Amino acid sequence: MEEKLRLMLKAAQQAIANAQDLEEINQVRIHYLGKKGELTRILRGMGALAADERRNYGQLANKIREEIEEALEKQTNVFKNKEKQERLAAEKIDVTLPGNVFYLGHLHPITTILNQIEDIFLGLGFSIAEGPEVELDYYNFEALNIPAGHPARELQDTFFITPNILLRTHTSPVQVRTMEVTTPNIPVKIIAPGKVYRRDDDATHTPMFHQVEGLAIDRQITFADLKGTLQLFAAETFGADIRTRFRPSFFPFTEPSAEVDISCVMCAGQGCRVCSQTGWLEILGCGMVHPRVLEMSGYSSEEVTGFAFGLGVERIAMLKYGIDDMRLLFENDLRFLAQF
Ligand SMILES: [Zn+2]
Repeated sequence: MEEKLRLMLKAAQQAIANAQDLEEINQVRIHYLGKKGELTRILRGMGALAADERRNYGQLANKIREEIEEALEKQTNVFKNKEKQERLAAEKIDVTLPGNVFYLGHLHPITTILNQIEDIFLGLGFSIAEGPEVELDYYNFEALNIPAGHPARELQDTFFITPNILLRTHTSPVQVRTMEVTTPNIPVKIIAPGKVYRRDDDATHTPMFHQVEGLAIDRQITFADLKGTLQLFAAETFGADIRTRFRPSFFPFTEPSAEVDISCVMCAGQGCRVCSQTGWLEILGCGMVHPRVLEMSGYSSEEVTGFAFGLGVERIAMLKYGIDDMRLLFENDLRFLAQF
């Protein structure tokens, strides 16, 4: 009897040692300690023994059961720990790996510059006016003192839709449309940002580009007001150190007219390739509103005066960001746009 119990213990210990996982441990448990297991079978044979013998073997059997249970428990823990380690290893996160990159978009450089220009003039008390991009010949040319046959029309390569309807070649028609609805009220202080169209396409011209038109009408507006306004605009846009220069020029809708240069943003006026060694860069055209334009729009040129200017937004962006080809602004190459 004792021999049988000891052999069974040995076999059970061997089986526990050979078990590969928790499932096999469980089978060992059932095989030796289950209701129909080895130990039960041996104990059943004790019925024939004397009472004190039964007690002795009973004690031994309990001791062996405890030993087997202890061995099972120990091995179960080993497997549970192993499982835990494996799960931890599988779920391990390397916090030094690079994360998922989110690409955030941002405003197009032209939009950014337009917003900045609008902010400057809104701060000076101007409001924003808009007009149609498909325009009548009358507003684009006629009412701006550019009658049919006027040589100034030759300067503007126009996209015509019908002989009388065209894509506006400048934002100046908004001046006329504004004066028509405000007359005879003063003051008028507007800027008109928007798209304009000309049949040009090279490194410094694109068929569509942006202008900002400015118009101020009141009693006793002088050229000094114009100079002060544009000087402030240049300083706000290019920095307080920037200098401006007004050169006499010609536009049919202003008299006198001027083109405005700023000291070169690349060489600070020393002379370089960008400014063709002159130290100056042209940024816009301006002038005092021509009396005939005032009269055509319903204002009395005896009572009021005004100034107007028109600037190219792409030109400002190119100078500010050092872009040498205007077409880059409209090719929508992300490698280019992401730099701003
Ligand atoms: Zn320069």
